[in-house]
Order: sequence, then structure tokens, then C-alpha cells
Amino acid sequence: MTDGKSFNFVDGSQYDSSSNDAYGQVISSEYLNLILDNSKTTNYFSINLGEHLPYNYGKSSLITKGFDTQMKVVNFYSKVLNERPPIINIFLFEDGSSYRPVDWDPYTGKVQGYWQPLIRISDSSMSAIGMEYTHYVQDHTYKKMGGLDRSPFTGNHYGFGNPSSGDSWVEGVGTFMPAVIADWYKLGSAGKFSHTNLEENKYKPDTTYKNWSPPQWLDEEYSIATLLWDMYDSKNEKGDNVTVRINQIWKLIKGFDSFQQHNPSDYHGDKRNIKYFKDFYDYLYDESNMSGDNIDDLFISHGIPQGWSALGRP
Ligand SMILES: [Zn+2]
Repeated sequence: MTDGKSFNFVDGSQYDSSSNDAYGQVISSEYLNLILDNSKTTNYFSINLGEHLPYNYGKSSLITKGFDTQMKVVNFYSKVLNERPPIINIFLFEDGSSYRPVDWDPYTGKVQGYWQPLIRISDSSMSAIGMEYTHYVQDHTYKKMGGLDRSPFTGNHYGFGNPSSGDSWVEGVGTFMPAVIADWYKLGSAGKFSHTNLEENKYKPDTTYKNWSPPQWLDEEYSIATLLWDMYDSKNEKGDNVTVRINQIWKLIKGFDSFQQHNPSDYHGDKRNIKYFKDFYDYLYDESNMSGDNIDDLFISHGIPQGWSALGRP
């Protein structure tokens, strides 16, 4: 559980995010306390540019805009989904945005080992901030198997080029949630990740969308992100006959069950969290109140028949 605070902003241009030394080096304020959760007395984040000036215009706006976006994301997880992972350092002014997963103690729910979780942020968009914090929440909520497990995989965002859909599952959830959070707050980016409208459902897992250096990355992530969006949105079309509340979808994403073990690395005991698209499909069949036909139609229309983005590849 949280100690009351949810995140710190750290100046990533001054403090090295790859070392633990930056702990406590927060961009903070004694003047501006922003209430995070009214039911807690100590639940605030503070920001003080005054003591850390000069920040130029670009950096100041990243801090203030980023703070606003981060608060929206944290509030959504805290109030709507009841997810309150421990405080995390968020390094600003980084080159690209990322989350560094950690090992969790399945019994105490605390971080195991030396490394602390951290987020690096390069821009203040809902896509960047929403995705990275979603990775953190999902990592924390999967602690029963030690955190996120994307194995087997060759590389992050390799999509269909990876030997399993494990990485694309995590990235797909990370793509879907910012679109929902933006929808919750009625922002212009509602239903979108970056500039991609999830409702358009353009990407099947084996298209060559964003085929940069690794083969066929992102399209597989989008196939599951757009599927989740079709579950969530109230607009139904061919292959999409369902509307599921976000609390329910999140509960399904957190599924913990005796899933089929496709790879040696899946053996963490007899149960684990969802790792693959196939797990999610099976879990919907068993645990959701969607009909089998509706589940099948939904997965087919996103190019993932019966949870397989390629037959036999979990
Ligand atoms: Zn990501």
C-alpha cells in the first residue's frame, strides 16, 4: 500500500536515473500542495519551481503539464480502480519514456532487492505518462508471480517478431489505458494512443505497421489494445457486441488462474497472472459474463482467433 504519496518528480538532467542515488532528490514545493485523495491526510505531492530555478520555458511547462497529467493518471487508478502502488520516482527530461520493472515479494507486496522501480519521461502527453504509470500499476498488481513476466521475448516492442505475445500484452494494456483515462476526464485524446484512434482497429498482429528495425512491431500491441477498447466503448459494430465497464475489464486484466503453461519460464507454481493473449481469451471464457460467441467474434475481428495471433505461438 501507499505511504500516502504517489510519485516524486526528479530532475533527470541532474540526477542519474540508473543509480539509486537520486532518491530524495525531488522537485518539490513548500507553497503548492495538491491534494491527491481527500480521505488521506498526508496524500499530497508538492512542486516548487522557485527553489530549483532556472528552468527554461520548455522544462517548466513539462513539469507543470506533466504534473497535471500525472495527477489525473494517479487519481484514476486510485479512485476508479482502487490501485495504489507505492510511491515512485519519475525522472523528467529523459530521452524517451520508459518504466523499469522490478521484482516484487509475492508475500509482502514490497520491492525485492536493491533496485527501485522508476519511470523516465520525455514528454507530458497522456500517452507517455499514462502508459508508463500503467506499466508500473500492472507490474505491482502482478506481484503474485513477482511482477510482469513478458518472457519469452527477444525485445521490447518487437511485437510479432517476439516468440510470444507476452511483451505485446503488457504494451497493449499500456496503450489501451491512457485512451480510457483520457475518456474518463473527457480530454481530446479520449480513445486515442498518441495519434492513433483505437476505434479504427486498423492493425492486425501480422501487418507491417511501423516495421522499423525489428520486424513488425507495434501492430500486435495495437491488435490487443483495440480489442480492449472495443470491450470498453459503448459503440458496437460488426464483431463488437459488448460493452464492459472499466472496473470489470481491469479485473479481467488482473486475472490470476491456472493458465496453460506454454513455456518453461511459465512455471511459477500452479497459478499465475495473464501473460499471453491466449490467457486473456481463456480467462474471458471462464470468468466474464460475455457469451462465447461474442468473445469469439471480438477476437476474430482483431486478428486473434481464439486468442492466437499465430497458431501455436502463445
Ligand atoms: Zn510501454
